[in-house]
Amino acid sequence: MSRLIDRTAPGIAGLRPYVPGKPVEELERELGIFDSLKLASNENPLGPSPLGWAAVQEAAGEINLYPDDLGYRLRGRLAERHGVAPEQLLLGRGSSEVLDLVARTFLQPGVNAVFSAHAFAMYPIFTQAAGASGRAVPALPADHPEMPCGHDLEAMAEAVDAGTRVVFIANPNNPTGTWLEAGPLEAFLARVPEDVVVVLDEAYFEYVTREGFPDGTAWLAAHPNLLVTRTFSKIYGLAGLRIGYGVGSAELIALLNRARHPFNVSSLALAGAEAALGDAQFIARSVEENARGLVQLREGLAALGLEALPSVANFLCVRLGRPGRPLYEALMREGVIVRPVDNYGLPDCLRVTVGAEEENRRLLEALAKVLEG
Ligand SMILES: *Cc1c(COP(=O)(O)O)cnc(C)c1O
Repeated sequence: MSRLIDRTAPGIAGLRPYVPGKPVEELERELGIFDSLKLASNENPLGPSPLGWAAVQEAAGEINLYPDDLGYRLRGRLAERHGVAPEQLLLGRGSSEVLDLVARTFLQPGVNAVFSAHAFAMYPIFTQAAGASGRAVPALPADHPEMPCGHDLEAMAEAVDAGTRVVFIANPNNPTGTWLEAGPLEAFLARVPEDVVVVLDEAYFEYVTREGFPDGTAWLAAHPNLLVTRTFSKIYGLAGLRIGYGVGSAELIALLNRARHPFNVSSLALAGAEAALGDAQFIARSVEENARGLVQLREGLAALGLEALPSVANFLCVRLGRPGRPLYEALMREGVIVRPVDNYGLPDCLRVTVGAEEENRRLLEALAKVLEG
């Protein structure tokens, strides 16, 4: 019998695929529950940007046509927003595709990528799929006074060696919610060799209200090896459309473009993103509701004797002081889907997305019930 697994490309045989948040329909089908609540994928609880949604409906009449391959109009809007040239932008099927393009462009067997422990799961997956080795640098200790489980930038800089081609940094990080300040990040960029690509993944940037929080695009002019990624999946509420982007030097973007498939972003995604980008009212409301929700959840957790890691994003990584997976399963039986993070090296935590006020209340009630049981 043929053993196809022995014929796979380097890295694929040992690859463990990404585990997404459980979809509502799946839970309802499996447990016969109705009206379940998903707070597991950091989606916007307010729904899609209304302007984005309207634009998608309008564009739907032309889906017989191929999309504009380079997304001329959207790239123009984004270039204006970030004060860069359109050639410095690359659109992807979600920002995940941009991360994958980085891996496929710069990684191969014999080289390595550096990232933090407890960082976004796609970094090790794309690294391994490209046949390269991943260096998961231990995070700051769980009892660190300021940023428990946060990225240890000092250690990450030390982990970069002659074989390093890419460093992945998430700011704020998923699933911890922890973040990096401008000073240390700037020092890190100055220290990393210019021929190592540094990816600054800012998927939650628009949610952050913290004063002085760094906008990585400010460093693009000084660092041609820097790529900042953003997404329309989180605050813009367009996760189902699959669109995100990377901003970097024209040189770096041109290289990534070589590995990109033609028409990688759909016409509906282009239309929705362009309109959502101008939906300032929706974004402002999403930021406000999220800030309120973070307080509501922290207070509710404290009342249950629980804490979460520091977070400036739209989710909290709750520290349970006991294994999270059984609680995750018990919460599902209450119709509430959250995210176990044992596969991120955080077995005693659960990640919960900030929902609408009523949803947060329901989560806290369910949590109170399963903690007792
Ligand atoms: C959600 C997320 C992304 C983006 O996902 P896409 O839907 O592919 O844009 C990227 N990085 C992090 C850290 C995320 O949490």
